[in-house]
Amino acid sequence: MPNSIGGELGLLPGTELLAINGRALEDFLDWEFHSADERFLLQARLPGGAEMEYDIERPEGFPMGVMLEPPRIRRCANHCDFCFVDGNPVGLRAPLYIRDDDYRLSFRYGNFATLTNLKPWDVERIVEYRLSPLYVSVHATDPTVRRWLLRNPEAPEIVPQLCWFTGQGIAFHAQVVLVPGVNDGAELERTLADLYAIGPGILSVSVVPVALTEFSKRQLVREPTQDECGAALRTVDRMATRALAERGTPWCFGADDLFLQAGEPLPAAEWYGDFEQRENGVGSVRFLQTRIAAARGGGRLPDLTGRTIGVVTGPAMGRLMPQVLDGLGSATGGRFEIVIVENTLFGPSVTTAGLLPAAAIEAAVRARPDLDLVLLPAEAVNDDLRFIDDVGAHDLAGKLSSPVRFSHDFVDALVGEREGA
Ligand code: SF4
Repeated sequence: MPNSIGGELGLLPGTELLAINGRALEDFLDWEFHSADERFLLQARLPGGAEMEYDIERPEGFPMGVMLEPPRIRRCANHCDFCFVDGNPVGLRAPLYIRDDDYRLSFRYGNFATLTNLKPWDVERIVEYRLSPLYVSVHATDPTVRRWLLRNPEAPEIVPQLCWFTGQGIAFHAQVVLVPGVNDGAELERTLADLYAIGPGILSVSVVPVALTEFSKRQLVREPTQDECGAALRTVDRMATRALAERGTPWCFGADDLFLQAGEPLPAAEWYGDFEQRENGVGSVRFLQTRIAAARGGGRLPDLTGRTIGVVTGPAMGRLMPQVLDGLGSATGGRFEIVIVENTLFGPSVTTAGLLPAAAIEAAVRARPDLDLVLLPAEAVNDDLRFIDDVGAHDLAGKLSSPVRFSHDFVDALVGEREGA
């Protein structure tokens, strides 16, 4: 990139970054960690094959200006019956066929990893680079139950693993994907108690009901009933009550979907603290309400009087969305209508907005030519703006008569609308 150290050195696209201070560079973590020093020796191989050594002095804040190739994803060693990837039909975005289980992506993006594929070298790096917090799929602390859920007889015991890492100063957000008859009931009690006993290095735990697709191994795993979701919430609540009294935080959270499936109301926004697991569907509704209230208070929302805005979402959020949109309507004067889109690719049991294919959205929005603006869930596209069925966002927008905007939290899209962006 111009105006950077890389640009001044004349590093060209295709340059291999070999080592810093004699230490071989394996991936972006090595690069970011070691190139953060004020002064270092970089060995690189230029596209023509010449090996170069650069003595680099990096004034604070001055960019290296080097863009790395995407990392090779660490593959998963498990075979969970509820795995979303295993049964995927053909024609999806290519990465959706990769079962990733990568602690590096866990640190960078908050992806959940199981820590079942760590090599000694990975363990050293997690500690050396202080990759914390990490997001870990625990599911069950009983080794037999966990191995059964992961379909991995080699999976190391998770409690000693977490104890060791937390002893080294690495913290974790944990999740339990609730599979009825396997890790609910007494197993869930034990799992939460074991994780709590590890200490404050386990920052939070979420309990998320298992979600299955049309292609899942339904003969082996099923979704929880309403009563089972309610029972799990009571277990979560007992643990949260104890944690609140002893540590001043509920620590243990039911996913919004667990409340929804149990038919029970969501806790207040304050319950979720910093909403640390909102990307995992924990407190997402309350987070949205908080964002809207803040934007309203700051006068950042546009006047939408007389306009009808369609909000595309999946059935899961569709049922929770009225709680969010009430505030938006009164704040903007606009009429917000929920457009619930059923997942035509994975089947109606997949209710999350993030997995909606463009084809289903197109059909639903075409049926609503009256909409002045359509808000689409930003989580339904990847960084390249492609939907799960590999359709580009611009291609979809070109087929619709109403203008569309992607939105994470409504506020982002509506503020853009106000500013004409
Ligand atoms: S841990 Fe299980 S659900 Fe996750 S990618 Fe691996 S097999 Fe799939």
